[in-house]
Amino acid sequence: MERIVYLDGQFINESEAKVSIFDRGFLFGDAVYEVTAVLDGKLVENEGHMVRLQRSCNELQISLPVTTEEITTIQKSLIEKNNLNEGGIYLQVSRGSAGDRDFGYPSGIKPTLVLFTQARSLLDTPKAVKGMKVITIEDIRWKRRDIKTVGLLAPCMAKQAAIDAKVDDAWLVEDGYITEGSSNNAYIVTQEGVLVTRPLSNDILHGITRKALLELAEKEKITIEERLFTVAEAYKASEAFVSSATTFVWPVVEIDGRTIGAGAPGQVANKLRKIYIELAKATAE
Ligand code: PMP
Repeated sequence: MERIVYLDGQFINESEAKVSIFDRGFLFGDAVYEVTAVLDGKLVENEGHMVRLQRSCNELQISLPVTTEEITTIQKSLIEKNNLNEGGIYLQVSRGSAGDRDFGYPSGIKPTLVLFTQARSLLDTPKAVKGMKVITIEDIRWKRRDIKTVGLLAPCMAKQAAIDAKVDDAWLVEDGYITEGSSNNAYIVTQEGVLVTRPLSNDILHGITRKALLELAEKEKITIEERLFTVAEAYKASEAFVSSATTFVWPVVEIDGRTIGAGAPGQVANKLRKIYIELAKATAE
């Protein structure tokens, strides 16, 4: 069955949704995006995603063609039109098309807005139960990882390297320190029980899930250190895990073939996943 998608003011069948070959999202990766999780047919932490979308647009001088309130209305219509109960909504805004290829930002063009749904199990996932295996790989991305652009070739290469190595994902490394996962934020728990994750900067995406998780961890009286951590420190951790909008928390049980902790999802990861899901369900709208 075809999905109903949204393109520039219209709800249409996915096979009818067409964008110009001159669209700058296509030519230059000149576009930003957001993914919001959907649970029980409702949007999870969408306000945070809208704030980050606006920030990404501001950094690139892309003006949203509709307000973030209108985007939320579109998201809700798409959930309804596609009968989406669990999964995600992808949203992309590109600078638009000037009918040719020139590097500088053209003036007076209308941004292209695309949204579509993806049905997928978020709560009942094998990786939450068994945990993930990851490899570490050099972080070759650009220096503005805080802007959520569709320029995702480096993460695609990292993910493919993980697939080729027969593991689930890759953690990215810069100057010996882990930045984040290919499409998630990365955490370790030390043998002393301290939760460690890289501090916010232009080096990583400012995860919406990360923010909520750190608040929850603080309430649980877990000691948090927002600091850089090395690959060697990760190997010695008692636990490791990742977070993102559609995975929530997924434990990491192996890094570069080395078993982490007991080789099974750890207590902190399990606890944070459980209470994050409770919060997500209670606040979804
Ligand atoms: N880092 C990167 C590189 C990501 O792609 C993502 C997911 N988009 C995240 C972190 C997690 O961010 P969020 O919790 O907002 O999904």
